[in-house]
Amino acid sequence: MDLLNTLVDKGLRRELPTREEALAVLATSDDDLLDVVAAAGKVRRHWFGRRVKLNYLVNLKSGLCPEDCSYCSQRLGSDTGILKYTWLKPDEASQAAAAGLAGGAKRVCLVASGRGPTDRDVDRVAGTIKAIKEQNEGVEVCACLGLLSDGQAERLREAGADAYNHNLNTSEGTYADITTTHTYADRVDTVNKAHAAGLSACSGLIAGMGESDEDLVDVVFSLRALDPDSVPVNFLIPVEGTPLAKEWNLTPQRCLRILAMVRFVCPDVEVRIAGGREVHLRTMQPLALNLANSIFLGDYLTTEGQAGKADLEMIADAGFEVEGTGEVTLPEHRATAAAGGCGSHESAGCGSHEDAGCGSVCGSHESSAANEPRTDLVAVRRRGAGTDLAPNA
Ligand code: SF4
Repeated sequence: MDLLNTLVDKGLRRELPTREEALAVLATSDDDLLDVVAAAGKVRRHWFGRRVKLNYLVNLKSGLCPEDCSYCSQRLGSDTGILKYTWLKPDEASQAAAAGLAGGAKRVCLVASGRGPTDRDVDRVAGTIKAIKEQNEGVEVCACLGLLSDGQAERLREAGADAYNHNLNTSEGTYADITTTHTYADRVDTVNKAHAAGLSACSGLIAGMGESDEDLVDVVFSLRALDPDSVPVNFLIPVEGTPLAKEWNLTPQRCLRILAMVRFVCPDVEVRIAGGREVHLRTMQPLALNLANSIFLGDYLTTEGQAGKADLEMIADAGFEVEGTGEVTLPEHRATAAAGGCGSHESAGCGSHEDAGCGSVCGSHESSAANEPRTDLVAVRRRGAGTDLAPNA
């Protein structure tokens, strides 16, 4: 297919595809899907080989958020039955992180619900970062605390944070339909603050919230312009009790096309499959490793993932290898930059902790009967941080 040859050539040169080319990936037929995966897989292997980076989420503070993000089980007034607790102590967070690191993770993502941290919260997280770094040589720490005020990114950097996550989540045009308590511009501002402070920016999206193909291409092109080093791709987990609970719009095939499009638009960036991997890709997860070079190990912020052991077996069975702490994730041109991005550089807000989404996926290219609600696959997290039970890692 000419389209795929063109996209592979551009991906190997880090050249931006056209919007039409990105849209055409989303519109491919099921008959062409394996060719799409193979093409995007060439780009993935060129920049990242067969390595899979494992990341581990630690939910420092769960629920009780004053913001109203429609996809989020931690939002204002939600009735989702999730764990609710205030800040973990540094040693509790460090213990949770250690479980993930022992399971093979090389990055710990410290996430807290809320609009953004107070300066006291930043001090608290600085103590946690210090505790984790002291006890685990070579670990990468990413903070995800919401919207940042002036100076806070610098203080996190000084405390030893390597990266900051804040997702754009959806296109600028649809942002106000998803959240009313802060704006898309607020999110862009925080990503830029992280960049400016020398933190590696992590910013991504949530698919499945009722967005159009054009919206998806918009947000991924915006991410490329912001130039993050990593782009988490969440597939909405429609958690009961959230406004988007009925939005079951994704099929495994749709998820693969979205990941392929992200890989073509952000070829040399760490593309991470985030929330919704098990729920929406289901048995197609191993195929998605040909597109993304990074996943979360174990559980998500408020919902449970598959067993960490199953993640590791899947990676090995699919012929990939877990990236070690001694290996550099990013291609040389990006790793040598102080902090990077997806093409030239970017960022988003309050990000990887998304467990949700809304949306009807348009299109005759959707596989029939594959997007029935799978509430049976959604389980609220009842183990790990904030509980007395061992974490999943
Ligand atoms: S995504 Fe973040 S800011 Fe939005 S409701 Fe959830 S925890 Fe709050």
